[in-house]
Amino acid sequence: MKQKMNYKKAGELSNWLFIAAVATIGGTLFFTGWTQLILFVLGVGLIVSGIAVRVIYWRCPHCKKTLHLGFRQEPKVCPYCRGNLLGEDTEDR
Ligand SMILES: [Zn+2]
Repeated sequence: MKQKMNYKKAGELSNWLFIAAVATIGGTLFFTGWTQLILFVLGVGLIVSGIAVRVIYWRCPHCKKTLHLGFRQEPKVCPYCRGNLLGEDTEDR
């Protein structure tokens, strides 16, 4: 049950992908030739997968509408259908 993907986990995952992408592309500065090219391609791939994760998972599980979330906003219910966005493991704070 805890393994269920929700927009919050997807957001974290895509953040890590972007960080890895920046690190990989930054790493190209220290290499030349094929190593540089491979690192660059890898970095671009990480950015693309980060965007893909957001596009695929940043949506309401109930009405499938895309969520437009900022980094500081963490709504627990969908603004469109009022459905629970975080699944089973919601905790009241
Ligand atoms: Zn919804």
